[in-house]
Amino acid sequence: MNFDFDQMNKDISNAATQKGEGDNVFLKLEPGLHPVRIIPEGNPKMNLPYLRVRQHTVQVPDETGTLKTRFIMCWNYIAENIQTLGRELSDKQKLTADDFKNKYNVHGCPFCSAVKFLDRRGVDKKTVAKLLAREATTFNVLVRKDNTIKVWNVSNKIFTDLMNYFNMYKSQNLNMFDPNSGFDTTISATGTGMQRRYSVAVMGVPKPMGIPDGTPIHNLMDIAINTSFYSYQDTIDLLKQGNGLLLQANGYSIPGDTVTEFLNAANGGVNNVGITSTAPVSIAAQVSNDIFAAPSVVPVVNGTTSEIGAQPMGAEIANMLAQPVKPTMPAGAIPSADGGWFDPAVGALFDANGVKRF
Ligand SMILES: [Zn+2]
Repeated sequence: MNFDFDQMNKDISNAATQKGEGDNVFLKLEPGLHPVRIIPEGNPKMNLPYLRVRQHTVQVPDETGTLKTRFIMCWNYIAENIQTLGRELSDKQKLTADDFKNKYNVHGCPFCSAVKFLDRRGVDKKTVAKLLAREATTFNVLVRKDNTIKVWNVSNKIFTDLMNYFNMYKSQNLNMFDPNSGFDTTISATGTGMQRRYSVAVMGVPKPMGIPDGTPIHNLMDIAINTSFYSYQDTIDLLKQGNGLLLQANGYSIPGDTVTEFLNAANGGVNNVGITSTAPVSIAAQVSNDIFAAPSVVPVVNGTTSEIGAQPMGAEIANMLAQPVKPTMPAGAIPSADGGWFDPAVGALFDANGVKRF
């Protein structure tokens, strides 16, 4: 499976611009060699030096009728990361209790459920594969050429290569992500357009990271949320927009869909009406349904108090959100005297509360 990462970068960058993230957040590379330093920050919630998010992809027409790629965060991915990403989405009043409890918990991820259905129906694998979620990985990097900090979208191959380098150096007790004694990564870009290819090389030459003062490190989770999180109904609408004909031809009615006329529209199931709304608008409209809209219960979550909406939450999400998040020492970590640990997997020290010290 070969993705057009240039196009993806362009699209995700466009999407970010539309949602106010700024056009120049993402790393764009001309052919040639590009030394960068990976900044292992930007995903503090997950304690990882990168963010790896699972997204579905659809091609949908924009206002001018031009097909554009849209990325949609997989709802199963959100559920698997409920304590980190889910918590953040709740805090931002984007993930509603209604969406999670009454829709996701009952019907699953709209895209993944459609995949299961089409697969069982014997639809050919290549067609079904277009609906599958794929991993998208982002890093913060310091671009040596101009000292800017960019978000680097990497393919699975580049991600694997980088992790192989990390592990190789780790086996020599070297941490390539260390701010003082870590190593730069050289990205090689060749070819143009669809033929553009990237590769990476990490030379074990220690060099201080040297982030210029006041240069902001991008919050990778925020960017992923802004560019690919949609409410449950918007996710369904994008599924219909991108795959309406295929789903209709196979007699699939999307469970949990509250706007069923879209699929049976006079245009033969191809939804050109446009999705019901963009994510931020629908979120505003759903404020009354928000988990934290009206205070009633005040559980302690992760050391802070949060107000839970009057709307009864599903036991599952309530449990997941209410459990104090006391991270346990991950496998392979080395305990320290104060009850914390050193995690060689991320090359960082954590205190007894799981807070990264450096
Ligand atoms: Zn999914």
